Amino acid sequence: MKQEAFFGRPIPHPQAVALFSRGLDSILAVKILQRQGIAVQGILFMTPFFNAGIRERENDFITAVNRDYDIPLCVVDISEEFLELLQAPAHGYGKNFNPCIDCKLLMVRKARDYAAQWGAAFIVTGEVLGQRPFSQRRDTMRIIERDSGTTGILLRPLSARLLPETIPEQEGLVKREELFDFSGRGRKPQMELAARLGISSFPSPAGGCLLTDPAYARRLKTIYADCRDSHHPALREVEMLKYGRFYHLPPASFLIVGRKQAENKRLLQLAGDEDVIMRLAAMPGPIGILCGTEDKMKTAAARVVQHSKGKNLDEVLISWSRGSRSGTFKHVRSKDS
Ligand code: SF4
Repeated sequence: MKQEAFFGRPIPHPQAVALFSRGLDSILAVKILQRQGIAVQGILFMTPFFNAGIRERENDFITAVNRDYDIPLCVVDISEEFLELLQAPAHGYGKNFNPCIDCKLLMVRKARDYAAQWGAAFIVTGEVLGQRPFSQRRDTMRIIERDSGTTGILLRPLSARLLPETIPEQEGLVKREELFDFSGRGRKPQMELAARLGISSFPSPAGGCLLTDPAYARRLKTIYADCRDSHHPALREVEMLKYGRFYHLPPASFLIVGRKQAENKRLLQLAGDEDVIMRLAAMPGPIGILCGTEDKMKTAAARVVQHSKGKNLDEVLISWSRGSRSGTFKHVRSKDS
């Protein structure tokens, strides 16, 4: 198992492990089973692309979910494994850089492993048949069960009555007649069920996944293409792509230029010893972080200057640092700029 950070403490002897996404569907899925007296342990996976906002406040988040919904939760950071998966997902990408089937497979497999570790009998998701055009189709759902080794133990309480009976239903642990037959994109049945269960406030569905954001996905795809098969981008690099202006400096380098003070600050926090930090030496201006080779420093300097008050000067002094090394050089405005 790749290194992953784990937060929270599972309840003793859970009977089921539920993938928790913060959205209403996953809350309902857990509540439906809790009403049947099943001890459910929620688990939420975090990567730089989804649920990233929880980072550094994992324990507070766990406490809030427990307090607001009475759902015991553990948070697992699977960033490293996810960065590797993105290199070549077996089932390909969706419209942007979102490997939805492999993403679900990874999460269900992990939930299965934790279930085995904790002695839980089955896995629960809040998926609704036909809600998403691709990843929640009947055939895709079957592929996920098959390839994650969870056939018969993956229960989707919101659509269960439209799906084959699972082992916990067959064995009488879960009452099938108290499960649901929701399908499609409409939200009305879920809202009605939420009202019936007394769930009046719930977070908006998960704040989205950055891999489906066309602008971010384009940046990410570019730096993955540079890596080819040798390795994947580092966590700090994919984090930096969320900020500033992005310049691809092929081959294998890119530059991020901060657009405002807060971005400059964040970029400086994220930059590692292997990155070149560039700024104007004699006047305030943007920070540029060059990830790649030092032969790109001149090109990078031109971009940094272009977004500063020095853009019309003939010469601008640039200072740079990389780990313990640092220096300055002059950027000279080209005649055509
Ligand atoms: S949208 Fe993002 S989080 Fe959702 S399944 Fe696809 S890759 Fe995973």
